[in-house]
Amino acid sequence: MASDPLSDEQREIRELVRQLARDRIAPRAAEIDESHEFPWDVVELYREHGLFGLFYDERYGGLGTGALLALIAIEEVSKVCATSGLILAVQELGSLGLKLAGNDEQKERYLPKLATGEYLTAYALTEAGSGSDSAAMRTTARRDGDAYVLNGSKRFITNAGVASLYTVFAKTDPDAAHAGISAFVLESDTPGFDVTRLEPKLGISGSTTGELAFEDARVPAANLLGEEGDGFKIAMRILDRSRPGIGAQALGIAQGATDYALEYARSRETMGKPIADHQLIAAKLADMETACEAARGLLYRFGRLVDDGVDGADLTKASAQAKLFCSDTAMWVTTEAVQILGGYGYIKEYPVERMMRDAKITQIYEGTNEIQRLVIAREMLRESRSPLLAGVS
Ligand SMILES: Cc1cc2nc3c(=O)[nH]c(=O)nc-3n(C[C@H](O)[C@H](O)[C@H](O)COP(=O)(O)OP(=O)(O)OC[C@H]3O[C@@H](n4cnc5c(N)ncnc54)[C@H](O)[C@@H]3O)c2cc1C
Repeated sequence: MASDPLSDEQREIRELVRQLARDRIAPRAAEIDESHEFPWDVVELYREHGLFGLFYDERYGGLGTGALLALIAIEEVSKVCATSGLILAVQELGSLGLKLAGNDEQKERYLPKLATGEYLTAYALTEAGSGSDSAAMRTTARRDGDAYVLNGSKRFITNAGVASLYTVFAKTDPDAAHAGISAFVLESDTPGFDVTRLEPKLGISGSTTGELAFEDARVPAANLLGEEGDGFKIAMRILDRSRPGIGAQALGIAQGATDYALEYARSRETMGKPIADHQLIAAKLADMETACEAARGLLYRFGRLVDDGVDGADLTKASAQAKLFCSDTAMWVTTEAVQILGGYGYIKEYPVERMMRDAKITQIYEGTNEIQRLVIAREMLRESRSPLLAGVS
């Protein structure tokens, strides 16, 4: 492709990921969905081929190949298996606290183990009573000598029970709202920490989603990220960087469903011709492909912004737009793919029903799409840009 923004090295890695997705992960996707078992074999495959390294700098043992390629890798895997794509996206989500707010000692201690995939990781913000309203969290962290003592619980945490390292948010000042939150890195073998429940769910069935409990769990003070009270800002900075990972998962699902529906429409005949030759079906395929390409434009733009060194508030709107549009596209496109397959679309033997179930979560986690719209509108309201209003007060 003439406009391919990738270097030769990046293209080679994309080709490797595509090949692994097609040859090794695609044949496992239906089984992962049906068994509801976390796919450790896929983790092993990523380890063998160094794919976790996509998210880390070379000084920590990573590939140093940048944000755009990392998004492309998540997209490529998610074309065939959304659970496997999520394993990559959450490795980034759970590492970003260390990458963005960790000190040198914390980074040296943990990032190399994350880069090889020896450690899987998780991000624990949500609680039973606080999802969109994360400042309402109840988990507390009380300073006691050289440690913080954590009490409370977290809900809906991806990688619960399989992660070795959790980025946990808790109130060091329970009376303060946003300013009372602090961020910690917690090791899974910490006494007083437990995974108390795993959720059965609609899609991404191989991914664990669980409840975490903290009962006087002592986290060394050296594992505080930034300063006390920095936690909310860190949580939001992380989400600005990580949400497009969910966009990439969503785009992969959408493109995978489009590609499958196209092949099906070529071969399924009604009224004497392939259904792809019926104009109503052809129009669906055209709209699905166009929506995927538009979503890809927003997603890759975000990756390029990060690779160009853009940071902070400038990323916020681009990140929310990529997550919003990719995930709405995934839900719409997969629903259309099921429609194109007719009755077969609804049957488990064909992958599009799984893709439709997997698509739904991308509109919900890492901030619902209602929240993404609020974020985008808030950023728009900060800007004053219509020349027609110049001089009007
Ligand atoms: C499978 C799965 C995996 C997850 N993984 C993680 C994870 O790894 N780490 C983690 O911390 N969390 C995780 N979550 C939690 C997820 O991010 C939250 O569920 C999500 O942010 C929504 O929070 P909530 O469920 O409390 O819904 P609520 O906040 O109660 O929202 C309910 C509804 O109200 C809407 N709403 C809420 N506030 C507003 C508002 N101000 N304006 C307009 N509409 C509003 C929401 O959009 C939604 O439609 C996961 C959830 C699931 C289901």
